[in-house]
Amino acid sequence: MSSEQALRHDVALANRIIERFGLSTAFGHASARIPGTNTFYISTRRSPGLADENKLLVIDTDGKILSGEGTPNSEFWIHARIYAARPEVNGVVHAHPLACIALTQIGEPHRVVHNQGGAFAHGVPEYERVGLIRSRELGDLVAQRLGKGIAVMMRGHGITTALADVRAATVSACFLEESADLQMRMLAATGGDAKRIRAFTREEAELTGGQTGPSVAAAGRAWEYYAAVAEGLLLGSR
Ligand SMILES: [Zn+2]
Repeated sequence: MSSEQALRHDVALANRIIERFGLSTAFGHASARIPGTNTFYISTRRSPGLADENKLLVIDTDGKILSGEGTPNSEFWIHARIYAARPEVNGVVHAHPLACIALTQIGEPHRVVHNQGGAFAHGVPEYERVGLIRSRELGDLVAQRLGKGIAVMMRGHGITTALADVRAATVSACFLEESADLQMRMLAATGGDAKRIRAFTREEAELTGGQTGPSVAAAGRAWEYYAAVAEGLLLGSR
């Protein structure tokens, strides 16, 4: 497989992973920068679960569609403007996972409450304005809130992750939703008393982030597992 086809395969798989693992249903998208360029592969405007590696669009950071057939996702500006702002970012995932959305709407910041949450030791900023990101200007505002971070929560909307490659961005999105889901369960179990949650200290979060963070996990069994499920492999049967 050529490196171009391998990257296309990863992008399609990343899209199918975010659908399969409940981060998105009909909406959401993953993309990857074409190495060394200001262009990126992104799926067409349909459920990420239906992404096809041979039907990706190539769009540049100014929002120009350079190749591919089909309509782009209306929120492609999230990807375009993050790639413009962050030259070291080569993978972006935007999804609408329920626990993350719930956290934004009860005014609780993300806290690190388990090992995989350690990836977010430095906090997850919130983009407060509601509504879809359908313009260059709004894409720039999301990129500004993201700053130098790896994830941003979008109030009443979803999340965006941005990392060194699309695998890490995908694993990171899955970890963030897992973390938010646990945080919501803990809030429910404590009657909504956030102070009773034994959130990790910064040092604890950094320790576990180094052990299980998305860059580590993406290179190993986390991506392997998510990809196997998204490919429809029958795990456990031989
Ligand atoms: Zn969205």
